[in-house]
Amino acid sequence: MRGLVIDDSRTMRMILGRMLKELGFEVVGAADGQAALDAIDSGAMPDLILVDWNMPVMTGIDFIKVVRAEPYSSPAKIVMVTTETEIPRVVTALEAGADEYVMKPFTKEAILEKLQLLGFEI
Ligand SMILES: [Mg+2]
Repeated sequence: MRGLVIDDSRTMRMILGRMLKELGFEVVGAADGQAALDAIDSGAMPDLILVDWNMPVMTGIDFIKVVRAEPYSSPAKIVMVTTETEIPRVVTALEAGADEYVMKPFTKEAILEKLQLLGFEI
């Protein structure tokens, strides 16, 4: 399984990346949406994408819209992991193409639960 972790916080990329590695994922990190698209262009499409909302260059929402549309049409499971906590924000993310939404700060259990909900056998 391949995981892509997109967050402008290096610490957050490390935390989430380590979590995914422990669960058996090969992990690639990116600091913003554009860097994530570049990573996808130069490698294989991930099975799972954890993406922050607020990032410079390209936000998580814009990234999700691009990766869900042609030419990517990614079937990856996408979890938005963000400090944005208002319900309209959650709706916006889901409408853009996110499958699940996790609010920061999160627990390892919360992430694990979402991944299991999404059908990952971990
Ligand atoms: Mg951020």
